[in-house]
Amino acid sequence: MTIGTVYLVGAGPGDPGLLTIRARELLRSCDDVVYDALVNEEMLSAELGGRDVARHFVGKRGGESASARQGDIERLLVRLAREGRRVVRLKGGDPFVFGRGGEEAQALAEAGIPFEIVPGITAGVAGPAYAGIPVTHRGAATAVTLVTGHEDPEKGERGTDWGALARTNATLVLYMGVRTLPDVVRELLAGGRSADTPAAVIERATYPAQRVIIGTLATIADRAREASVAAPAITIVGDVVGLRDEIEWFDRRPLAGARIVVTRARAQASSLSARLRELGADVIEMPAIRVEPLDPGPLDRALAVAPGYDWMIFTSQNAVEIVWRAMRARGLDARTLGGVRIAAIGRATADALLDHGMAADVVPQRFVAESLLEALETRDDVSGRRVLLPRAADARDVMPDGLRTLGAQVDVVPIYRTVMDGEGAARVAARLTAGDVDLVTLTSSSTARYFVDAVGADAARAAPVASIGPVTSAAARALGLRVAVEAEESTIAGLIAALTTLRR
Ligand code: SAH
Repeated sequence: MTIGTVYLVGAGPGDPGLLTIRARELLRSCDDVVYDALVNEEMLSAELGGRDVARHFVGKRGGESASARQGDIERLLVRLAREGRRVVRLKGGDPFVFGRGGEEAQALAEAGIPFEIVPGITAGVAGPAYAGIPVTHRGAATAVTLVTGHEDPEKGERGTDWGALARTNATLVLYMGVRTLPDVVRELLAGGRSADTPAAVIERATYPAQRVIIGTLATIADRAREASVAAPAITIVGDVVGLRDEIEWFDRRPLAGARIVVTRARAQASSLSARLRELGADVIEMPAIRVEPLDPGPLDRALAVAPGYDWMIFTSQNAVEIVWRAMRARGLDARTLGGVRIAAIGRATADALLDHGMAADVVPQRFVAESLLEALETRDDVSGRRVLLPRAADARDVMPDGLRTLGAQVDVVPIYRTVMDGEGAARVAARLTAGDVDLVTLTSSSTARYFVDAVGADAARAAPVASIGPVTSAAARALGLRVAVEAEESTIAGLIAALTTLRR
């Protein structure tokens, strides 16, 4: 059997966007991941996708000495490599910056195991960057010192000469010492650093929940204690901290730190979630619904005579995708509908059609059934014509009833239904009840209904709701939810615009 390789990989400080391309490649091709507590687990799961990878958590557990654990980790890496496996040893930040990566590399070298080192963005550089603090700045600091505030006697480290560090103009970046901060401050003051030197503590740097506490060398330890700062946190000492006033950005984003539940179906959630994250939100995904295609027979029979219809009406992206797949299964494509006029309920649906080479002839002003009917009412080519309406089984009757009132001959073909998904509902329910959620986004009435079913009425009512439009708002209110804001335009962009006004 060929021997495997161990990759000592830095995962960066937490923000998934700060993972390196090499780290991503390795996570997508490895057999095993050995990781510890500082690694963002959500990011890890996302990077591994659904792949069958053995995950070994080797973070702190109670009652175990650090050196015993370190020995176990090194033996695990050697054993897995000898079994021929491709092993990613994933560490927070950079593996060689206070990460014991050097010791693991030594152990691998000694055991004759091939290894590779993949640097990561260290918290001591990323944290200040996300706090708007450049670690060097002309006129303020010509050097940076990365230093541990916590010297583990077990590691046999040489003591830090705090007096020497106090006498330079270097920016000091203190890893670890949340508890030892008062001692470090005392040493620096005794060494001659001015008491009014600006200082900052950055907790959970680069995560949506990042907190930055500002003070001076004289006040920072008290301020951190008053704010109950917890690990992981990094402390920055130096005049550069003063630059945050001007260049703070992360904590100023419109939705910074807002904890928002996204209830859309898994397949559709990503664009909304990504945009909310970009605006600073802490997104909690809980797909309330899932789309379940129905018996394809009726749709297939309708498609067989599709050119005979005058109109085809699409009221969701799901309908577009299911109809397209059914068309392809019959060997059909956009040309089949060449003589059929097409109406789409909204821009996203129209875009989905266009992705398959079909441009909608009608897209209403407001993206609801009533508005689409108004748009069709003004035309002289609806009355007496044949309309195919492939759609959700549980949709409202507004559309077919309205079309019939306009004199059209309507064939409604149920092609899918939305069912409750509710993955992760227990976790979200607990957060709602604990008051740990600021807002829940609802993008359809069925989402509202299934969200309440999934988390339970009491939990659902614990947080206000942002709704995509009037129909969804009415459904939410009927369920006893409090609608804090409603999108003016019933699109994802409209929903996001509404959310940002709420914050201001
Ligand atoms: N190898 C890591 C450091 C490991 S030592 C790196 O290069 O970043 C652990 C210390 O790193 C923590 O106690 C804390 O001081 C710092 N740290 C790591 N991630 C952090 C984060 N997201 N926010 C603040 N500090 C962090």
